[in-house]
Amino acid sequence: MSYDIAVLSGDHIGPEVMKEGLKVLDAVASSEGFSFNYTEALIGGAAIDATGSPLPKDTLDLCRSSGAVYLGSVGGPEWDNLPPEKRPEVGGLLEVRKSLGLFANLRPVKLYPELASCCPLDFKGKTPDVDILTVRELIGCVYFGEPKTLTEEEGLDTMIYRRHEVERILKVGFKTAGSRGGRLCSVDKANVLRSSMLWRKTAENMRGDYPEIDLSHMYVDNAAMQLILNPGQFDVIVTGNLFGDILSDESAALAGSLGMLPSASLGPSVHLFEPSGGSAPDIAGKGIANPLAQILSGAMMLEHSFGEFKAAGRIYKAVEKTIVDGFRTGDILGPGEEAVSTAAIGDAVAERL
Ligand code: NAD
Repeated sequence: MSYDIAVLSGDHIGPEVMKEGLKVLDAVASSEGFSFNYTEALIGGAAIDATGSPLPKDTLDLCRSSGAVYLGSVGGPEWDNLPPEKRPEVGGLLEVRKSLGLFANLRPVKLYPELASCCPLDFKGKTPDVDILTVRELIGCVYFGEPKTLTEEEGLDTMIYRRHEVERILKVGFKTAGSRGGRLCSVDKANVLRSSMLWRKTAENMRGDYPEIDLSHMYVDNAAMQLILNPGQFDVIVTGNLFGDILSDESAALAGSLGMLPSASLGPSVHLFEPSGGSAPDIAGKGIANPLAQILSGAMMLEHSFGEFKAAGRIYKAVEKTIVDGFRTGDILGPGEEAVSTAAIGDAVAERL
């Protein structure tokens, strides 16, 4: 069996961590009796430099015809002065998400006990209980709502949710909560925003379809605080695009580093897998980026796109063992520990499969 994967490494640390992701995928595939057929394509700043477009048509065509899309990260200061729709993040990343209909972004965050010293929370010697899945709506809300305009005097974005958009993401939330502790916290700003009022009402209307799920609601400002005060109260958070963007980065900090946080973006056909962090231009080119988010995103791809649960499980275990055995990049370094390179982490995971 061979799986077709569109490999979009992107910018800055993207290609560095992608190399390690592919290393681990190849290692697990060869011992599980399947293989991958990778086709590389350009996205983001690299694509702008080569073709003038952040998402060339060839890249999108490749994504559509592949079994899955494996993405690094895009963006950087070189392209920050372009108009929004020509920028790597808007014209590249948001566009590929929208074009593939990737409405559900799953961001699991887990604090490994060995990395407790990297967590900014100190629960008096006890490791904070951080094991949260954020289910973020990905192709609606203020990032995509129309109209949007920008003049010298005014910037306008439109926050809009339609019932069918809310229902389909809540459905993912209810279903995943069933396999992760049973508590679903729907986060909104329904005391102020009309789009959130619709969101909350829709969630309440669906409650009866999932009697086994403990559904609660929380305002986003309180959720930001509760994540710090008591992260153990959350199993699954389901929320909109803007709130999910912010809360999932906040919960990433609880896991020690953005470099630990994988993601899966699911749509009606082909899915996309990428680290939750950005292209980290501040550390690019030094061989010090943490590749674990990329590697874990590969494991999510095996699960969600190819049903290779055993191989995915082996990657999760190998990552855990790599951490237990003390391999660390600089972003997850504890007191007295020594950092190893991006490639050394990839090697360590591959050896421990
Ligand atoms: P960032 O996520 O790139 O970096 C934030 C901080 O986290 C930096 O200090 C960085 O060094 C660190 N970090 C991130 N990933 C890391 C890793 N794997 N290993 C070690 N440290 C890591 O966010 P930013 O600096 O705000 O943005 C940089 C660029 O990335 C911008 O152009 C931004 O628009 C873009 N961006 C892209 C994506 C994406 O491709 N999905 C997401 C967010 C930001």
